[in-house]
Amino acid sequence: MSGHLFALVDVNNFYVSCERVFDPGLEGRPVVVLSNNDGCVVARSAEAKALGIRTGAPWFKLAPLAEQQGLVARSSNYELYGDMSARAMEVIGRFGAWQEIYSIDESFLGLPDGDATAAVEAARTVREAVRRHVGLPVCVGVASSKTLAKFANHVAKNNPGFGGVCSLGSMPAEQLRRLQERLPATEVWGVGRRSGEKLEGLGISTVADLRDADPAWIRRKFSVVLQRTVLELNGTPCIPPIDERADAHQIMFSRSFSQPVGSAAEMREVMAVYAQSAASRLASRGLRASVVTAFAGTSRFAAGPASNPTVSVPLAAPTDDPIEIVRAAVNALGGRVAPDAAYARAGVVLSGLTPAGAPLQQELDLFSALAADHDSPAGAACPDEAPQLSEVLGRVKSRFGQTSIGLGRGGLSEPAAWSMRRQFSSPKFTTEWKDLPLVRG
Ligand SMILES: [Mg+2]
Repeated sequence: MSGHLFALVDVNNFYVSCERVFDPGLEGRPVVVLSNNDGCVVARSAEAKALGIRTGAPWFKLAPLAEQQGLVARSSNYELYGDMSARAMEVIGRFGAWQEIYSIDESFLGLPDGDATAAVEAARTVREAVRRHVGLPVCVGVASSKTLAKFANHVAKNNPGFGGVCSLGSMPAEQLRRLQERLPATEVWGVGRRSGEKLEGLGISTVADLRDADPAWIRRKFSVVLQRTVLELNGTPCIPPIDERADAHQIMFSRSFSQPVGSAAEMREVMAVYAQSAASRLASRGLRASVVTAFAGTSRFAAGPASNPTVSVPLAAPTDDPIEIVRAAVNALGGRVAPDAAYARAGVVLSGLTPAGAPLQQELDLFSALAADHDSPAGAACPDEAPQLSEVLGRVKSRFGQTSIGLGRGGLSEPAAWSMRRQFSSPKFTTEWKDLPLVRG
């Protein structure tokens, strides 16, 4: 995207940081978050990493030592993390010309390509805003390509002297060279272990080596994907942002999955849930959509077949009816889901937007509306006078929580595997009224 710098905003130790927002006693202590059934470690605080605890370590092996090491374990609370993510992403999005939410805790942001000092200032502002408004610590890497922004973020995260912000544009060339010579090529975004081994065999072991490799030769030896990586390391942006906001004429809900989605049945669940989120956004903006587009994609770095289906379905008439939108999204991908592909992300886009007209002004009362229908003469109940379904769903959710009501598979109170499971977790501080933290004077 010309005219813009790429910022990568990434929450530090995301799961642990979410736990610390509501339990500040965890600050400075070694903390791990466990997988479902408290099986093994999925996230670690810096202090836990310093103790040598590895991701994937089984809890039953750590538990006997936990007390003497002061180690605290938390079950994963994905509802809390998901909601904190949405809050952080919303704040981050305020500061960019565009935003691409890359994963639950990472977001690319377009910053104006002005002078280097301005970029650092903008990055600091984002960092402070997320800390102040959401309570989460983030690091920001700024550079002229996505791959370099990832690298800059890595530098910011691992070198406390940077104060959480690293902008390559304002870094002396000599310092940049030293950093790139120190870091193994496998730390570069998109370079996996297997490519790393092959590169090593060809004498390319550091980020600097890869940056200096001949792009055409890399393409012949590896792939066009790794060639792009080399170009990106040299500051030529080749991986454009997937824009969620730039177009005011569409509403998009898309996410990367916690684990790959492989079956058509699972993809229908994903579509049902994402379409409902998109439909709530539509309703909250007082709009109707006339086209539903569903898409899914495999990771550009994953092994296995690549599959990136996109299907648009025109609706009979502009609507904000979540049932119609969900049905269209669920059916859209239909036979386009490749049976042996491991999908990494998917999304639903609503377009052809028109104003929905005057929204309901009065406080919604589902039961009095139903009672009124009963009182009216037979056959006189007009569907247009019934409260709109999207409004009912929105209000029930805001009053009783996200899982209180939903359509079809979106109404599952037990999350599906791709959406993650949980067993013994901290309260859903931000999404359940009953779990709202109490503040005592
Ligand atoms: Mg992170």
